Amino acid sequence: VTHPLQRHGDRPEISVVVPLYNEADTLPELYRRLATVLARENCAHELVFVDDGSRDATPRLLHVLHGQDRQVTTVTLSRNFGHQAALSAGLDHARGRAVVLMDGDLQDPPEMLAPLLAGWRDGFEVVYTVRTRRQEGLLKRTCYAAFYRVLRAVSDLDIPLDSGDFCLLDRKVVLALRRMPERQRFLRGLRAFAGFRQQAVPYERAARQAGRSKYTLRALVRLALDGLLGFSAWPLRLATYVGLVFAVLAVFLAACVAGSVLGDSARPASGTIVLLAVLVIGAGQMLGLGILGEYMHRVYVEVTGRPSYIVSQVRRGKGNSARKRRRNRSSVA
Ligand code: UDP
Ligand code: MG
Repeated sequence: VTHPLQRHGDRPEISVVVPLYNEADTLPELYRRLATVLARENCAHELVFVDDGSRDATPRLLHVLHGQDRQVTTVTLSRNFGHQAALSAGLDHARGRAVVLMDGDLQDPPEMLAPLLAGWRDGFEVVYTVRTRRQEGLLKRTCYAAFYRVLRAVSDLDIPLDSGDFCLLDRKVVLALRRMPERQRFLRGLRAFAGFRQQAVPYERAARQAGRSKYTLRALVRLALDGLLGFSAWPLRLATYVGLVFAVLAVFLAACVAGSVLGDSARPASGTIVLLAVLVIGAGQMLGLGILGEYMHRVYVEVTGRPSYIVSQVRRGKGNSARKRRRNRSSVA
């Protein structure tokens, strides 16, 4: 459904999209800091808060914020769909000429908005942040570092190292992302896939302000797999490569056997024959698996359809309603 404003191109300059899952402890502080920064920027903006099925006071706080602040839009999902899905929901409801994606636990400092906007005004369509330092446990840091390096090594795309979801996207990029219907979303990858002029801004990632990380180990592993499998056919090709190695070994062994039969020596040991058979069969099976994998990959790329999230309610910021804006305009005229 196109909003009346969309047709008039009368949209806020920036939308700030924040997914929230049980973030009642940080939300007031986040809102305060965002409001300060946005007031300093002095441009038309909207805040899009996505409630990803929170079970704490987050929905209540959002209701209050929506009542108080005309720029606050809330999107309530029907249940908890996960961080990436919540970000996508926010992207789909953001109307700004530029959209900033950030976490709701203050690990992404709202004060970074200024450099992000500066990059955008310099003509970059994607301004993403790169974490120079993380204030997290050694194990988690090591895993993150390893993940990004493996992803980079095997992925078909140039996904920047240590870049997170915290970024600014021009509306052109947002429209491009909206047209990517896949369900297992890995936004950093999709963002790299989208292309456009991209700029990196380094920042030091703060520690979580309050509460605990909403990512369980399982959710993190799933995200890592979405990144690896979604942007690389390499794991599927592994079987093909192993099959090829087996095949080369088999040819080599066959040559040896043939050599010894034709040469002066006696019949080759039966163990050698068995090994040769194992190699030939193994190579055949592995290659077969590899081919299956290639088809699987293509099916994976093609199969889409189920939505990645379901919205139960949208409350638009009152400051962004069409009627209000027109009244403003006529009062200026
Ligand atoms: N989040 C969400 N849905 C989820 C998990 C997380 O909307 O199922 C939000 C969360 O409220 C936060 C952001 O996504 O604003 C990042 O989550 P978190 O801080 O737990 O991730 P981490 O920083 O540990 O990677
Ligand atoms: Mg966090």
